Amino acid sequence: MKNIAVYPGTFDPVTNGHLDIIRRAAEIFDKVIVAVLINKNKKPIFTASQRLDHLKHCTKQFKNVTVDSFDGLLADYMRIKKAKVAIRGLRALTDLEYEFILANTNSELNPDMETVFLMPSAKYTYLTSSMVREAYAFGGRLKNSVPPYVEKELLKIYKK
Ligand code: ADP
Repeated sequence: MKNIAVYPGTFDPVTNGHLDIIRRAAEIFDKVIVAVLINKNKKPIFTASQRLDHLKHCTKQFKNVTVDSFDGLLADYMRIKKAKVAIRGLRALTDLEYEFILANTNSELNPDMETVFLMPSAKYTYLTSSMVREAYAFGGRLKNSVPPYVEKELLKIYKK
């Protein structure tokens, strides 16, 4: 049986930290589904279809990676996709408490799934989508934070 992993997130926008995690997961699992969470309570800067487009563009070199979107519970989406492993990235210690709560809740909702944590390269430890949004919104640039394709899209939104 194929070992399928799902990497869920908002990806608003996808950063080089996310891509680092995707590359690591693609080396470990037979198939990785990067799943854009459509959360109606959040107001993302990029629509779900834009985020899907960014992810597809930036992951096309990985032959075993596909991109999809979902709403509702990850636990249910995992069952539909017959995936056992959910991937989460761990940056600094600040991620830990939230990620532990999430992993415990998910395993209660779906006892067949496991959450696997991957660490990015140290240079991405403090990189978050929200910092990227904040910097670009006010005319700043963060070197090596997002792929060039995504930077272009950010600059379209935050035209001076
Ligand atoms: P963020 O937390 O930056 O808003 P997401 O909700 O899209 O981003 O995060 C999806 C997953 O990717 C989470 O597990 C998050 O911890 C992880 N992640 C986000 N940024 C990084 C990064 N720079 N390095 C490693 N993992 C990351």
